[in-house]
Amino acid sequence: MITVLSGCAIATMNQARTEYRNGHLVVDGRRIVAVGNGPAPFSSRAVHWIDATGCLLTPGLINTHQHLYQWLTRGLAADAGLFDWLQLLYPVWSKIDEAMVHAAALGGLAWLARSGCTTTTDHHYVFPATGGDLLGATIQAAREVGLRFHPTRGSMDLGRSAGGLPPDDLVEDVDAILRRTEAAIAAHHDPSPGSMVRVGVAPCSPFTVSRELLTEAAELARTYGVPLHTHLAETLDEDAYCREHFGCSPVEYLERLGWLGEDVWLAHAIHLDDEDVKKLGSTRTGVAHCPSSNARLGAGIARLKDLREAGARVGLGVDGPASNEAGSLLDEVRHSVLFARATGGPRAMAVRDALELATIGGADVLGRADELGSLEPGKLADVALWRMDGLPHAGIDDPVAALVLGSPPPLELLLVNGRTVVERDRLITMDEASVTRQVVAACNRLRRAR
Ligand code: ZN
Repeated sequence: MITVLSGCAIATMNQARTEYRNGHLVVDGRRIVAVGNGPAPFSSRAVHWIDATGCLLTPGLINTHQHLYQWLTRGLAADAGLFDWLQLLYPVWSKIDEAMVHAAALGGLAWLARSGCTTTTDHHYVFPATGGDLLGATIQAAREVGLRFHPTRGSMDLGRSAGGLPPDDLVEDVDAILRRTEAAIAAHHDPSPGSMVRVGVAPCSPFTVSRELLTEAAELARTYGVPLHTHLAETLDEDAYCREHFGCSPVEYLERLGWLGEDVWLAHAIHLDDEDVKKLGSTRTGVAHCPSSNARLGAGIARLKDLREAGARVGLGVDGPASNEAGSLLDEVRHSVLFARATGGPRAMAVRDALELATIGGADVLGRADELGSLEPGKLADVALWRMDGLPHAGIDDPVAALVLGSPPPLELLLVNGRTVVERDRLITMDEASVTRQVVAACNRLRRAR
């Protein structure tokens, strides 16, 4: 089946950053086969024509950091900083189970789809002993909603009695973590081209996991050729923790453990000195920039311009919905440029750089820049079509500026792997009302359990 979109503005995000005021895109099956100026050169066989007049077409957005289970704990600890926030939420999270996580993931993924996201990661690191198959529940939900999914098997092994932050009953032991992570890779990781599910390995943070776990997790990930992910340098409290326990900065700590490189990406990376920035750049380590969560928790804001100039790969993340109740990747695009300029002046980030972070930047962070992140023949058909001719955007000179700086526009169409997931601002792979009911029921169950 061939689908043709025509009559729309297009921001391809290809190497030359080519844009068209009035262009077309042709999809054959799950791949893009043509993109260009003017009307499409297709006129025959089984063509599904979509009149995209009044719209802007971009690559689907890529979310490089998320904790889907937190969809059930939005709005709690609304005024706390990270360490207090975590300590308020750990006891609540200790009650989650497979059915709750499935409902949470449906809600979070459905809303990501509605805000233009086609590929998302997830970092699940809370595994209560009787919770069931929580990672499997998120993968099942991604299949139902229809998003491309990069779940990571997270972990915590450093309980409070061993000097860590989480309560002892919420951590696993190192051997069990490694065994379960290996099983998750074997069961779910698909390294083939066009893959819809790729698994990563993700110990939670320097203050919740041991040195031993970080070292062995890296070894395991490299044995299987899957990427490594963790939180790093999010707050000044974490910086102080690392200096007190390890005698160095968070980045130096990871460097010592072999945790910098092209197969690693780090959430946040805010509190860095010039040496740290150089290290992340020269090793091409990835960074998931999460501006809304960072602002919500009062953590600070990453030195994006410096990191990008140094050579680090940078994408955007919504982070967990418990520290970013909006859970919308398009919000992160807008916040990345606004916060960069608020702290770094008018030239700290260009509008098109923000869209780059959310598309080809995110694809690069996930090691998929050859398949995702731009609209080019041969790439996978993950595209977002934004309606720009309504009240908030009609008549605006630059549709990309309208998308990045303006109000969130209606999402006319979202294709993932060539399949329609959102149409006219409605999820069509699932019934939104049913997802909403499942989320409310799971929230109520968790409320009663905690
Ligand atoms: Zn996070």
